[in-house]
Amino acid sequence: MSKPRKVHVKSFGCQMNVYDSHRMADTLAPAGFAETTSPDDADLVILNTCHIREKAAQKVYSEIGRVRVMKEAAAAEGRRLLIAVAGCVAQAEGEEIIRRAGAVDLVVGSQNYHRLPQLVARAADGERIVDTEFPVEDKFAALAAPQRAAIQRRGVASFVTVQEGCDKFCTFCVVPYTRGAEVSRPVAQIVTEVERLAAGGVREITLIGQNVNAYHGPGEDGSAWTLGTLLRRLAQVPGIDRLRYTTSHPRDMADDLIAAHAELPELMPYVHLPVQSGSDRLLAAMNRKHTRADYLAAIERLRAVRPDLALSSDFIVGFPGETEADFRDTLALIEEVGFAGAFSFMYSPRPGTPAAEMADQVPQEEKAERLQRLQALIVRQQRSFNASFAGRTLDVLLEKPGKLTGQLVGKSPYLQAVQVMAPRSAIGSIARVTVTEVGSNSLFGALVEYNDAPQLAAAGA
Ligand code: SF4
Repeated sequence: MSKPRKVHVKSFGCQMNVYDSHRMADTLAPAGFAETTSPDDADLVILNTCHIREKAAQKVYSEIGRVRVMKEAAAAEGRRLLIAVAGCVAQAEGEEIIRRAGAVDLVVGSQNYHRLPQLVARAADGERIVDTEFPVEDKFAALAAPQRAAIQRRGVASFVTVQEGCDKFCTFCVVPYTRGAEVSRPVAQIVTEVERLAAGGVREITLIGQNVNAYHGPGEDGSAWTLGTLLRRLAQVPGIDRLRYTTSHPRDMADDLIAAHAELPELMPYVHLPVQSGSDRLLAAMNRKHTRADYLAAIERLRAVRPDLALSSDFIVGFPGETEADFRDTLALIEEVGFAGAFSFMYSPRPGTPAAEMADQVPQEEKAERLQRLQALIVRQQRSFNASFAGRTLDVLLEKPGKLTGQLVGKSPYLQAVQVMAPRSAIGSIARVTVTEVGSNSLFGALVEYNDAPQLAAAGA
């Protein structure tokens, strides 16, 4: 029997890339590749790249440079190391990567991961390949399912991609170009995947998509199902106790999804709803297709059915043409909503997007100064949100061992990390924990009670 080869997938960027990295490893498993956490002993290194941050392509080329050194060292030992570049930079740069980086054997776009076993076999035969075409076949149907050992290794909370791509074309964003048009996976495929994860011990599922609440996949009755209907169906899967979804667009906060927040105890009361700016003038320039009032109305509707619901958001400061008055509108919106957390960035142009060509680019120092003010406000809100939990008892999904002996780390319904002394056997249980101390990044608590994690079903790979 030949020695199993090893694949190391290095993931950059968002949760969708983390999910894709897992699915790439799953798809290569039947071809004889075992997953390894270190590139040092790998036969194949896949860089799963992200195009969102500034200078994304340059960063990928420096990363390739680091792996090239390993490839040369492996060659000196008589070993062959293949290098593949996947993800959004691969999709955007394509041939350019093969041309500029002689060490790269394979460039594979985000829609073509299911072809990896064949592509890697061809690369092993000495071919240099670029596969970034958008395929006609269904990638998700062709990807191999995770094996039980892989599910267990990855923990009790899992992402599941239900939707990919975006049709909204915000003027600052590369996603519609790198991930293509919106596509929703069929409900039956998602249910099968979630059942398999539950059988492997997963208790919490986060449904992910670039525009997840635009989900409109074919349902079990043949009609197009909304995200709300999909969530109702997944809440019935035995073993799944918690559901989340991200990232949402304010325009797609349909009544049916809001009603799901009222109906489903499994649906966690924490929603990430990016607004980007509080100024209508800038929201129009960003082509966000919603106004400040639309955003506030969506939040009011959510809070009306789930008063305990907390929110996080994304903000871009210094978008072209942003004045101090526009920026103050954003600060005022933050004050009005009160966020539990947020991601905030200075605007930086992405080549090929309309905003990169706009006049009135904001000077760097102004952007930096505004970002600092915005982040100070968010940090204040986040601290007071966390402080409000002191002395309260929360449900915590215990996920993994903590830094201290006898300590476990889990997640509150609001995605706060919670540290608690608890037996290792409690991993996978939802425990009642009383918060005794509030730290800057996590809560500390005392275990009140927990039920044993459910026995894993005997079936499954
Ligand atoms: S809705 Fe989100 S993914 Fe789509 S273009 Fe806008 S920012 Fe990008």
